[in-house]
Amino acid sequence: MKQPSRILINNAKIWADGRFINGSILIHGNKIEQIARNISFENISPDASDVVTVAVNADGRYIVPGLVDMHVHFREPGYSYKETIYDGSRAALAGGFTTVCTMPNLNPAPDSIENLQQQLDIIARDAQMQVIPYATITAKRMGNKLIDYEALAPWVAGFSDDGSGVQDEEVMREAMRRIAKTGKILAAHCEVNSLLRGGYIHDGEYARAHGHRGICSESEWGEIERDIRLAEETGCRLHVCHISTKESVDLIRKAKARGVQVTCETGPHYLTFCDSDLQEEGRFKMNPPIRAIEDRDALREGLVDGTIDVIATDHAPHSASEKSKGLEKSAMGVVGLETAFSAVYTTMVKSGLMSFERLVEVMTVNPRRILGLPGVYGPAEGDWADLTVLDTTGESVVDPSGFLSKGHATPYAGLTLSGSVVATIFSGRIQNLK
Ligand SMILES: [Zn+2]
Repeated sequence: MKQPSRILINNAKIWADGRFINGSILIHGNKIEQIARNISFENISPDASDVVTVAVNADGRYIVPGLVDMHVHFREPGYSYKETIYDGSRAALAGGFTTVCTMPNLNPAPDSIENLQQQLDIIARDAQMQVIPYATITAKRMGNKLIDYEALAPWVAGFSDDGSGVQDEEVMREAMRRIAKTGKILAAHCEVNSLLRGGYIHDGEYARAHGHRGICSESEWGEIERDIRLAEETGCRLHVCHISTKESVDLIRKAKARGVQVTCETGPHYLTFCDSDLQEEGRFKMNPPIRAIEDRDALREGLVDGTIDVIATDHAPHSASEKSKGLEKSAMGVVGLETAFSAVYTTMVKSGLMSFERLVEVMTVNPRRILGLPGVYGPAEGDWADLTVLDTTGESVVDPSGFLSKGHATPYAGLTLSGSVVATIFSGRIQNLK
């Protein structure tokens, strides 16, 4: 479809530094040209050539800076049968995201300029929106040999060995010392291997009742406690990935109160579900696991009170056969990009637990601030036109067969969720994917 050179969106509620104001946005090319209370179609002076201006009535819907997901797995290079950068980025656009950060459990892992370049080449060729990779913390994510952070820093969101915790304290300390000098975040997947004992779901009531091996909460918070201490010591910006336990919330709340430079994320599924919701299906299996009801409630509280900064999906697609082997044998990971907004809206906002403004903070404002992206205060004249149009009315049943992602495993399948992403505008182009 030929894109118009100008798009005028009228009658919208536009995010402006913590609140919504009624107004119009005029997009010209890939930039925001004007934001005003009311822009009339007749007053737009025509372009010299090729003038097509379209006016859209937003019908009072919400326009926010494009959503940002700090934690996704797009699986290229190395595992394109699970997901590609092309399919993953289309799924991201469908979910309202204009920027995502990809985790480095790839083959080859982005632990050198040469290896990272392979991924950057695929992104340049196939990405449909902004994809910013993480580089690893250690070579091949093996947890022992440090990499050249200085050389990789300009190209990456930060450094992470996501999928495994860095077990050796000395290695983590030295990594933090060096990463601190780059100013980038260290995004930590916190997990103590010696406490895993072959577990694969939460070590709680459901695991005991159904004869499963559990993953204890300490395997997560034990390493968070250590990493907070190391961040305090080294001055490194620590971002804790996908927190799932009440103890993790508590540790991070206290560290923030002491002034430690720590931020953290949780996923929509940890807010919606607890282990009594589990079924004997792979679509309920991810790492960290869905925890107990007390953990779910502590995460909800932490999201509302500012302890948890960011919602990140940990979108982790696998093939249908890898996810069809029940709780014990299926691969770890579920998809999340195409349900994130409505899942968080339904669980947290429609339920009355959290304001819609807070949702905007945790799904776009805070990740932008942490990553140093524009749009922290809202769409602004002269900025790239990366915007998401959100609707809070209506509801729909989650049907994974309609997902653009190659992965279809989600605990939300068949559930009715409220709110929707009406449109995603990336670089001035309205994406009409479905
Ligand atoms: Zn992880």
